[in-house]
Amino acid sequence: MSIPRFWRNIKSRYDLIGKQCKSCKSIYFPPRNFCPKCRRIGELEDYKLKGKGEVVTYTIIRTPPDGFDMVSPYIMGIVELEEGPMLTTQIVDADVNEIYIGMPVERVFRKIGEDGDAGLIYYGYKFRPAPKEE
Ligand SMILES: [Zn+2]
Repeated sequence: MSIPRFWRNIKSRYDLIGKQCKSCKSIYFPPRNFCPKCRRIGELEDYKLKGKGEVVTYTIIRTPPDGFDMVSPYIMGIVELEEGPMLTTQIVDADVNEIYIGMPVERVFRKIGEDGDAGLIYYGYKFRPAPKEE
């Protein structure tokens, strides 16, 4: 991912802001510029996602890419948010033996990695197992 693209996306990375179509109420994350269901009729507005969902599928990765602040092995998962969108994310604070499909998870804000040459540290969202709701 190039740095300019990273900075363009920073608002959505910090706040988990997606888009909701005013016509059909579909919610999109990552944000997009038009609703593929309504085409040009649809008008999109910011929609703040709650950051709760469940694990749809996951992979255990044993060799992290360079520059990422990850302890291996780590878990990459696809999370379906309560509002409907799915996203790919690292799942933290979960043991590789304890993760399962359908596990409730919530968003946390974590360091993602750094670019040693540029001295930049990237922050963004990750997900972790959600505490049981009483
Ligand atoms: Zn729509």
